[in-house]
Amino acid sequence: MKFDFYLPVEVLFGSGRLDTLGEVAKRYGYRAIIITGKNSTKENGALERAIHSLKKWGAEEVILYDRVEPNPTDQMVNEASAIVVENKIDYIVGLGGGSALDTAKAVSIVSSNEGYAWDYVNYPEGPRLIPYLNRPVICIPTTAGTGSEVNRYSVISNPKRKEKLVISHSLNYPKVAIIDPTLTLSMSPRLTAITGVDAFVHALESLTNKVENTFADDLAIRALRIIKEWLPVAVNEPENLTAREWMSYASMLAGIAIDKKRVALIHGMEHPVSAHYPNVAHAEGLAALAPAITAFNYKGNPQKYALFAEIMGYEPKPEKAVDAVVELLEEVGLRVSLKELGVEREKLERLTEDTYMLSRGLFPINPVEPTVEDIYELYVKAYEGF
Ligand code: NAP
Ligand code: FE
Repeated sequence: MKFDFYLPVEVLFGSGRLDTLGEVAKRYGYRAIIITGKNSTKENGALERAIHSLKKWGAEEVILYDRVEPNPTDQMVNEASAIVVENKIDYIVGLGGGSALDTAKAVSIVSSNEGYAWDYVNYPEGPRLIPYLNRPVICIPTTAGTGSEVNRYSVISNPKRKEKLVISHSLNYPKVAIIDPTLTLSMSPRLTAITGVDAFVHALESLTNKVENTFADDLAIRALRIIKEWLPVAVNEPENLTAREWMSYASMLAGIAIDKKRVALIHGMEHPVSAHYPNVAHAEGLAALAPAITAFNYKGNPQKYALFAEIMGYEPKPEKAVDAVVELLEEVGLRVSLKELGVEREKLERLTEDTYMLSRGLFPINPVEPTVEDIYELYVKAYEGF
Protein backbone atom coordinates (compact mmCIF):
# COMPACT_ATOMS: atom_id res chain seq x y z
CA MET A 1 0.00 0.00 0.00
CA LYS A 2 1.28 3.44 -0.88
CA PHE A 3 -0.04 6.97 -1.14
CA ASP A 4 0.87 10.65 -1.05
CA PHE A 5 -1.70 13.17 0.01
CA TYR A 6 -1.50 16.95 -0.01
CA LEU A 7 -4.45 19.27 -0.59
CA PRO A 8 -3.92 22.92 0.28
CA VAL A 9 -7.53 23.89 -0.54
CA GLU A 10 -10.00 24.93 2.14
CA VAL A 11 -13.35 23.42 1.18
CA LEU A 12 -16.62 25.00 2.28
CA PHE A 13 -19.39 22.70 1.12
CA GLY A 14 -23.14 23.14 1.44
CA SER A 15 -26.28 24.58 -0.04
CA GLY A 16 -26.39 28.36 0.35
CA ARG A 17 -22.66 28.72 1.06
CA LEU A 18 -22.20 31.17 -1.85
CA ASP A 19 -23.32 33.92 0.49
CA THR A 20 -20.28 33.36 2.74
CA LEU A 21 -17.99 34.51 -0.10
CA GLY A 22 -17.46 38.05 1.21
CA GLU A 23 -16.61 36.90 4.71
CA VAL A 24 -14.09 34.38 3.38
CA ALA A 25 -12.62 36.75 0.80
CA LYS A 26 -11.90 39.68 3.08
CA ARG A 27 -8.82 37.97 4.49
CA TYR A 28 -7.25 38.19 1.03
CA GLY A 29 -7.61 41.94 0.52
CA TYR A 30 -9.90 44.62 -0.81
CA ARG A 31 -9.64 44.54 -4.57
CA ALA A 32 -11.35 41.62 -6.28
CA ILE A 33 -11.90 40.37 -9.79
CA ILE A 34 -14.67 37.90 -10.60
CA ILE A 35 -13.89 35.67 -13.57
CA THR A 36 -16.99 34.09 -15.06
CA GLY A 37 -18.73 33.06 -18.28
CA LYS A 38 -20.91 35.14 -20.53
CA ASN A 39 -24.44 34.28 -19.46
CA SER A 40 -25.30 31.59 -16.93
CA THR A 41 -24.16 33.30 -13.72
CA LYS A 42 -26.10 36.41 -14.72
CA GLU A 43 -29.20 34.41 -15.60
CA ASN A 44 -29.28 32.34 -12.40
CA GLY A 45 -28.41 35.23 -10.07
CA ALA A 46 -25.12 33.74 -8.81
CA LEU A 47 -23.04 36.68 -10.05
CA GLU A 48 -25.21 39.30 -8.39
CA ARG A 49 -25.13 37.38 -5.11
CA ALA A 50 -21.36 37.05 -5.27
CA ILE A 51 -20.86 40.78 -5.90
CA HIS A 52 -23.33 41.63 -3.14
CA SER A 53 -21.55 39.38 -0.64
CA LEU A 54 -18.12 40.82 -1.49
CA LYS A 55 -19.34 44.42 -1.15
CA LYS A 56 -21.20 43.68 2.07
CA TRP A 57 -17.97 42.45 3.65
CA GLY A 58 -15.96 45.46 2.62
CA ALA A 59 -14.54 44.85 -0.85
CA GLU A 60 -13.55 48.25 -2.25
CA GLU A 61 -13.41 47.29 -5.89
CA VAL A 62 -15.05 44.35 -7.66
CA ILE A 63 -14.02 44.12 -11.30
CA LEU A 64 -15.73 41.72 -13.68
CA TYR A 65 -14.17 39.59 -16.40
CA ASP A 66 -17.16 37.86 -17.99
CA ARG A 67 -15.77 36.69 -21.31
CA VAL A 68 -14.78 33.12 -20.47
CA GLU A 69 -16.10 30.63 -23.03
CA PRO A 70 -16.23 26.82 -22.86
CA ASN A 71 -12.79 25.36 -23.65
CA PRO A 72 -11.12 28.62 -22.55
CA THR A 73 -8.20 29.97 -24.56
CA ASP A 74 -4.76 31.28 -23.68
CA GLN A 75 -5.91 34.62 -25.08
CA MET A 76 -8.71 34.84 -22.46
CA VAL A 77 -6.20 34.08 -19.70
CA ASN A 78 -3.78 36.71 -21.01
CA GLU A 79 -6.53 39.31 -21.36
CA ALA A 80 -7.86 38.79 -17.83
CA SER A 81 -4.30 38.71 -16.43
CA ALA A 82 -3.59 42.14 -17.93
CA ILE A 83 -6.73 43.48 -16.25
CA VAL A 84 -5.60 41.99 -12.92
CA VAL A 85 -2.19 43.64 -13.15
CA GLU A 86 -3.56 46.97 -14.35
CA ASN A 87 -6.10 47.15 -11.51
CA LYS A 88 -3.76 45.90 -8.76
CA ILE A 89 -6.16 43.11 -7.89
CA ASP A 90 -5.58 41.37 -4.52
CA TYR A 91 -7.51 38.16 -5.14
CA ILE A 92 -9.44 36.31 -7.84
CA VAL A 93 -12.88 34.74 -7.66
CA GLY A 94 -13.64 32.06 -10.27
CA LEU A 95 -17.41 31.63 -10.58
CA GLY A 96 -18.88 29.22 -13.11
CA GLY A 97 -18.17 25.91 -14.78
CA GLY A 98 -14.74 24.35 -15.09
CA SER A 99 -13.89 26.81 -17.86
CA ALA A 100 -14.28 29.83 -15.56
CA LEU A 101 -12.45 28.10 -12.70
CA ASP A 102 -9.56 26.92 -14.88
CA THR A 103 -9.24 30.44 -16.29
CA ALA A 104 -9.27 32.03 -12.82
CA LYS A 105 -6.51 29.71 -11.60
CA ALA A 106 -4.37 30.28 -14.69
CA VAL A 107 -4.84 34.04 -14.36
CA SER A 108 -3.48 33.81 -10.83
CA ILE A 109 -0.20 32.42 -12.23
CA VAL A 110 0.07 34.50 -15.38
CA SER A 111 -0.73 37.79 -13.61
CA SER A 112 1.90 37.10 -10.94
CA ASN A 113 4.85 35.92 -13.07
CA GLU A 114 6.55 36.85 -16.33
CA GLY A 115 5.35 35.64 -19.71
CA TYR A 116 1.99 34.44 -21.03
CA ALA A 117 -0.43 31.60 -20.43
CA TRP A 118 1.13 29.34 -23.05
CA ASP A 119 4.52 29.54 -21.30
CA TYR A 120 3.08 27.60 -18.35
CA VAL A 121 1.31 24.68 -20.07
CA ASN A 122 2.72 21.21 -19.73
CA TYR A 123 4.19 19.84 -22.94
CA PRO A 124 5.54 16.30 -22.46
CA GLU A 125 9.00 17.84 -22.08
CA GLY A 126 7.67 20.29 -19.47
CA PRO A 127 6.46 23.90 -19.46
CA ARG A 128 8.57 26.75 -20.86
CA LEU A 129 8.41 28.69 -17.60
CA ILE A 130 8.01 27.65 -13.97
CA PRO A 131 5.88 30.00 -11.84
CA TYR A 132 7.10 31.13 -8.43
CA LEU A 133 4.27 33.42 -7.35
CA ASN A 134 0.49 33.44 -7.43
CA ARG A 135 -2.52 35.34 -6.10
CA PRO A 136 -5.24 33.89 -3.89
CA VAL A 137 -8.07 32.28 -5.83
CA ILE A 138 -11.53 31.37 -4.55
CA CYS A 139 -13.31 28.88 -6.79
CA ILE A 140 -17.09 28.57 -6.84
CA PRO A 141 -18.26 25.83 -9.23
CA THR A 142 -21.69 26.06 -10.88
CA THR A 143 -21.37 22.71 -12.64
CA ALA A 144 -20.66 19.30 -11.08
CA GLY A 145 -18.01 17.67 -13.19
CA THR A 146 -14.49 19.00 -13.47
CA GLY A 147 -13.40 19.11 -9.83
CA SER A 148 -11.26 22.09 -10.82
CA GLU A 149 -12.18 23.79 -7.52
CA VAL A 150 -10.02 21.30 -5.62
CA ASN A 151 -7.17 20.51 -7.97
CA ARG A 152 -4.01 21.96 -9.49
CA TYR A 153 -5.06 21.79 -13.14
CA SER A 154 -6.13 24.42 -15.65
CA VAL A 155 -6.99 23.08 -19.09
CA ILE A 156 -6.29 25.79 -21.67
CA SER A 157 -6.73 25.80 -25.46
CA ASN A 158 -4.55 27.53 -28.01
CA PRO A 159 -6.74 28.09 -31.10
CA LYS A 160 -3.80 29.14 -33.30
CA ARG A 161 -1.83 25.98 -32.56
CA LYS A 162 -5.01 23.87 -32.23
CA GLU A 163 -3.64 22.47 -28.99
CA LYS A 164 -5.29 21.93 -25.61
CA LEU A 165 -2.87 21.52 -22.74
CA VAL A 166 -2.83 21.61 -18.97
CA ILE A 167 -1.17 23.92 -16.49
CA SER A 168 -0.35 21.64 -13.58
CA HIS A 169 1.48 23.21 -10.67
CA SER A 170 1.08 23.43 -6.90
CA LEU A 171 0.75 27.23 -7.25
CA ASN A 172 -2.35 26.56 -9.38
CA TYR A 173 -4.45 25.29 -6.44
CA PRO A 174 -7.21 27.63 -5.33
CA LYS A 175 -7.00 28.79 -1.71
CA VAL A 176 -10.69 28.15 -1.09
CA ALA A 177 -13.43 26.16 -2.82
CA ILE A 178 -16.97 27.24 -2.00
CA ILE A 179 -19.12 24.38 -3.26
CA ASP A 180 -22.77 25.37 -3.16
CA PRO A 181 -24.81 22.66 -4.90
CA THR A 182 -27.82 24.99 -5.34
CA LEU A 183 -25.77 26.77 -8.05
CA THR A 184 -26.01 23.65 -10.21
CA LEU A 185 -29.83 23.55 -10.14
CA SER A 186 -30.04 25.70 -13.28
CA MET A 187 -28.12 23.18 -15.43
CA SER A 188 -30.19 21.61 -18.20
CA PRO A 189 -30.51 17.81 -18.30
CA ARG A 190 -27.97 17.69 -21.14
CA LEU A 191 -25.40 19.87 -19.37
CA THR A 192 -25.96 17.81 -16.21
CA ALA A 193 -25.23 14.64 -18.17
CA ILE A 194 -22.15 16.08 -19.88
CA THR A 195 -20.57 17.44 -16.71
CA GLY A 196 -21.51 14.32 -14.72
CA VAL A 197 -19.81 12.11 -17.29
CA ASP A 198 -16.62 14.16 -16.86
CA ALA A 199 -16.65 13.34 -13.12
CA PHE A 200 -17.44 9.71 -13.97
CA VAL A 201 -14.45 9.44 -16.32
CA HIS A 202 -12.19 11.16 -13.75
CA ALA A 203 -13.16 8.51 -11.21
CA LEU A 204 -12.84 5.65 -13.72
CA GLU A 205 -9.45 6.75 -15.07
CA SER A 206 -7.91 7.58 -11.70
CA LEU A 207 -9.09 4.30 -10.18
CA THR A 208 -7.77 2.15 -13.01
CA ASN A 209 -4.51 3.81 -14.04
CA LYS A 210 -1.12 2.57 -12.88
CA VAL A 211 -0.37 5.22 -10.29
CA GLU A 212 -0.42 3.68 -6.83
CA ASN A 213 -2.42 5.75 -4.37
CA THR A 214 -4.74 3.85 -2.06
CA PHE A 215 -6.24 6.99 -0.57
CA ALA A 216 -7.17 8.43 -3.97
CA ASP A 217 -8.61 5.06 -5.03
CA ASP A 218 -11.06 5.28 -2.14
CA LEU A 219 -12.15 8.73 -3.28
CA ALA A 220 -12.69 7.45 -6.82
CA ILE A 221 -14.61 4.39 -5.60
CA ARG A 222 -16.92 6.54 -3.52
CA ALA A 223 -17.39 8.96 -6.42
CA LEU A 224 -18.37 6.10 -8.74
CA ARG A 225 -20.93 4.73 -6.29
CA ILE A 226 -22.52 8.16 -5.95
CA ILE A 227 -22.50 8.88 -9.70
CA LYS A 228 -24.13 5.54 -10.49
CA GLU A 229 -26.92 6.27 -8.03
CA TRP A 230 -27.44 10.00 -8.47
CA LEU A 231 -26.38 11.13 -11.95
CA PRO A 232 -29.44 9.61 -13.67
CA VAL A 233 -31.65 11.22 -11.00
CA ALA A 234 -30.05 14.65 -11.52
CA VAL A 235 -30.50 14.31 -15.31
CA ASN A 236 -34.16 13.28 -15.03
CA GLU A 237 -35.06 15.63 -12.19
CA PRO A 238 -32.93 18.76 -12.59
CA GLU A 239 -34.55 20.38 -9.56
CA ASN A 240 -33.80 17.51 -7.19
CA LEU A 241 -31.45 19.19 -4.70
CA THR A 242 -30.43 15.92 -3.04
CA ALA A 243 -29.19 14.63 -6.40
CA ARG A 244 -27.39 17.95 -7.01
CA GLU A 245 -25.69 17.76 -3.61
CA TRP A 246 -24.45 14.23 -4.21
CA MET A 247 -23.20 15.12 -7.69
CA SER A 248 -21.31 18.19 -6.42
CA TYR A 249 -19.77 15.96 -3.76
CA ALA A 250 -18.86 13.20 -6.23
CA SER A 251 -17.33 15.72 -8.61
CA MET A 252 -15.19 17.08 -5.79
CA LEU A 253 -14.04 13.58 -4.75
CA ALA A 254 -13.16 12.68 -8.34
CA GLY A 255 -11.41 16.06 -8.76
CA ILE A 256 -9.15 15.22 -5.81
CA ALA A 257 -8.60 11.69 -7.12
CA ILE A 258 -7.24 13.02 -10.44
CA ASP A 259 -5.12 15.54 -8.58
CA LYS A 260 -3.37 12.63 -6.86
CA LYS A 261 -3.44 9.98 -9.62
CA ARG A 262 -3.89 11.99 -12.84
CA VAL A 263 -6.16 10.78 -15.64
CA ALA A 264 -5.34 8.39 -18.51
CA LEU A 265 -5.86 7.76 -22.21
CA ILE A 266 -9.54 8.81 -22.44
CA HIS A 267 -8.55 12.35 -21.41
CA GLY A 268 -5.31 12.12 -23.36
CA MET A 269 -7.21 11.38 -26.58
CA GLU A 270 -10.08 13.80 -25.85
CA HIS A 271 -7.98 16.94 -25.53
CA PRO A 272 -6.90 16.87 -29.22
CA VAL A 273 -10.57 16.45 -30.17
CA SER A 274 -11.82 19.59 -28.40
CA ALA A 275 -8.64 21.42 -29.44
CA HIS A 276 -9.56 20.88 -33.11
CA TYR A 277 -13.32 21.10 -32.52
CA PRO A 278 -13.84 23.69 -29.77
CA ASN A 279 -17.61 23.35 -30.08
CA VAL A 280 -17.36 19.78 -28.79
CA ALA A 281 -17.79 19.83 -25.00
CA HIS A 282 -14.93 18.11 -23.17
CA ALA A 283 -17.14 15.33 -21.81
CA GLU A 284 -18.96 14.73 -25.10
CA GLY A 285 -15.55 13.79 -26.46
CA LEU A 286 -14.89 11.63 -23.39
CA ALA A 287 -18.24 9.89 -23.89
CA ALA A 288 -17.40 9.06 -27.51
CA LEU A 289 -13.98 7.65 -26.58
CA ALA A 290 -14.69 5.89 -23.27
CA PRO A 291 -16.24 2.59 -24.47
CA ALA A 292 -13.53 1.73 -27.02
CA ILE A 293 -10.71 2.76 -24.70
CA THR A 294 -12.19 0.78 -21.79
CA ALA A 295 -12.30 -2.31 -24.03
CA PHE A 296 -8.63 -1.69 -24.88
CA ASN A 297 -7.60 -1.04 -21.27
CA TYR A 298 -9.30 -3.57 -19.03
CA LYS A 299 -6.77 -6.37 -19.51
CA GLY A 300 -4.03 -4.12 -18.17
CA ASN A 301 -5.59 -3.82 -14.73
CA PRO A 302 -8.14 -6.65 -14.40
CA GLN A 303 -8.56 -6.32 -10.66
CA LYS A 304 -9.51 -2.64 -10.75
CA TYR A 305 -11.79 -3.05 -13.79
CA ALA A 306 -13.54 -5.96 -12.04
CA LEU A 307 -14.03 -3.72 -9.02
CA PHE A 308 -15.35 -0.95 -11.26
CA ALA A 309 -17.82 -3.39 -12.89
CA GLU A 310 -18.99 -4.50 -9.47
CA ILE A 311 -19.51 -0.93 -8.27
CA MET A 312 -21.61 -0.32 -11.38
CA GLY A 313 -23.85 -3.30 -10.57
CA TYR A 314 -22.24 -5.93 -12.80
CA GLU A 315 -20.50 -9.22 -12.10
CA PRO A 316 -16.97 -8.50 -10.80
CA LYS A 317 -15.31 -9.39 -14.11
CA PRO A 318 -12.97 -6.99 -15.92
CA GLU A 319 -14.63 -7.41 -19.32
CA LYS A 320 -17.94 -6.28 -17.81
CA ALA A 321 -16.43 -2.81 -17.38
CA VAL A 322 -17.24 -2.06 -21.03
CA ASP A 323 -20.94 -2.85 -20.55
CA ALA A 324 -20.95 -0.75 -17.39
CA VAL A 325 -19.53 2.29 -19.19
CA VAL A 326 -21.95 1.90 -22.11
CA GLU A 327 -24.96 1.52 -19.82
CA LEU A 328 -24.14 4.65 -17.82
CA LEU A 329 -23.72 6.66 -21.03
CA GLU A 330 -27.00 5.31 -22.43
CA GLU A 331 -28.82 6.07 -19.21
CA VAL A 332 -27.89 9.75 -19.37
CA GLY A 333 -28.33 10.11 -23.15
CA LEU A 334 -24.65 10.48 -24.04
CA ARG A 335 -24.01 7.45 -26.20
CA VAL A 336 -22.34 9.26 -29.11
CA SER A 337 -19.66 8.65 -31.72
CA LEU A 338 -16.96 11.10 -32.80
CA LYS A 339 -18.69 11.21 -36.18
CA GLU A 340 -21.95 12.35 -34.57
CA LEU A 341 -20.02 15.07 -32.75
CA GLY A 342 -18.86 16.47 -36.11
CA VAL A 343 -15.32 15.08 -36.17
CA GLU A 344 -14.15 14.48 -39.77
CA ARG A 345 -12.80 11.07 -40.77
CA GLU A 346 -9.73 12.63 -42.41
CA LYS A 347 -8.78 14.33 -39.12
CA LEU A 348 -8.18 11.05 -37.28
CA GLU A 349 -4.53 10.87 -38.30
CA ARG A 350 -3.87 14.37 -37.08
CA LEU A 351 -5.65 13.61 -33.79
CA THR A 352 -3.45 10.52 -33.45
CA GLU A 353 -0.29 12.57 -34.01
CA ASP A 354 -1.43 15.19 -31.51
CA THR A 355 -2.16 12.56 -28.88
CA TYR A 356 1.36 11.26 -29.35
CA MET A 357 2.96 14.72 -29.41
CA LEU A 358 0.98 16.26 -26.53
CA SER A 359 -0.48 13.51 -24.31
CA ARG A 360 2.24 10.85 -24.40
CA GLY A 361 3.17 11.71 -20.80
CA LEU A 362 0.04 9.76 -19.85
CA PHE A 363 0.93 6.62 -21.83
CA PRO A 364 3.09 4.94 -19.14
CA ILE A 365 0.33 5.23 -16.53
CA ASN A 366 -2.46 4.05 -18.82
CA PRO A 367 -3.51 0.49 -17.89
CA VAL A 368 -2.16 -0.70 -21.27
CA GLU A 369 0.62 1.39 -22.79
CA PRO A 370 -0.64 2.26 -26.29
CA THR A 371 1.31 2.41 -29.54
CA VAL A 372 0.57 5.05 -32.15
CA GLU A 373 -1.25 2.37 -34.19
CA ASP A 374 -3.42 1.52 -31.17
CA ILE A 375 -4.38 5.16 -30.82
CA TYR A 376 -5.37 5.48 -34.46
CA GLU A 377 -7.47 2.31 -34.22
CA LEU A 378 -9.16 3.62 -31.09
CA TYR A 379 -10.03 6.88 -32.85
CA VAL A 380 -11.50 4.89 -35.75
CA LYS A 381 -13.63 2.82 -33.35
CA ALA A 382 -14.81 5.90 -31.47
CA TYR A 383 -15.54 7.59 -34.81
CA GLU A 384 -17.63 4.73 -36.13
CA GLY A 385 -19.34 4.13 -32.79
CA PHE A 386 -18.05 1.33 -30.63
P1 NAP B 1 -18.03 24.93 -18.88
O1 NAP B 1 -17.25 24.86 -20.14
O2 NAP B 1 -17.46 25.70 -17.76
O3 NAP B 1 -19.47 25.47 -19.18
C1 NAP B 1 -20.25 24.91 -20.21
C2 NAP B 1 -21.53 25.69 -20.38
O4 NAP B 1 -22.33 25.55 -19.24
C3 NAP B 1 -21.31 27.18 -20.57
O5 NAP B 1 -22.08 27.59 -21.67
C4 NAP B 1 -21.81 27.80 -19.27
O6 NAP B 1 -22.42 29.04 -19.50
C5 NAP B 1 -22.87 26.80 -18.84
N1 NAP B 1 -23.12 26.75 -17.39
C6 NAP B 1 -22.21 26.66 -16.39
N2 NAP B 1 -22.84 26.56 -15.19
C7 NAP B 1 -24.18 26.58 -15.45
C8 NAP B 1 -25.34 26.51 -14.63
N3 NAP B 1 -25.27 26.35 -13.31
N4 NAP B 1 -26.55 26.59 -15.24
C9 NAP B 1 -26.67 26.73 -16.59
N5 NAP B 1 -25.59 26.78 -17.42
C10 NAP B 1 -24.36 26.71 -16.84
O7 NAP B 1 -18.36 23.42 -18.41
P2 NAP B 1 -17.57 22.40 -17.49
O8 NAP B 1 -17.90 21.07 -18.01
O9 NAP B 1 -17.79 22.67 -16.06
O10 NAP B 1 -16.03 22.71 -17.79
C11 NAP B 1 -15.38 22.19 -18.92
C12 NAP B 1 -13.97 22.71 -19.01
O11 NAP B 1 -13.22 22.27 -17.88
C13 NAP B 1 -13.24 22.19 -20.24
O12 NAP B 1 -12.42 23.20 -20.77
C14 NAP B 1 -12.43 21.05 -19.68
O13 NAP B 1 -11.29 20.75 -20.47
C15 NAP B 1 -12.06 21.57 -18.32
N6 NAP B 1 -11.73 20.52 -17.33
C16 NAP B 1 -10.92 20.86 -16.30
C17 NAP B 1 -10.56 19.91 -15.35
C18 NAP B 1 -9.66 20.25 -14.20
O14 NAP B 1 -9.26 19.34 -13.49
N7 NAP B 1 -9.32 21.47 -13.97
C19 NAP B 1 -11.07 18.61 -15.44
C20 NAP B 1 -11.91 18.30 -16.49
C21 NAP B 1 -12.25 19.27 -17.41
P3 NAP B 1 -21.65 30.45 -19.25
O15 NAP B 1 -20.40 30.39 -20.05
O16 NAP B 1 -22.61 31.47 -19.71
O17 NAP B 1 -21.37 30.51 -17.78
FE1 FE C 1 -12.14 16.00 -17.45
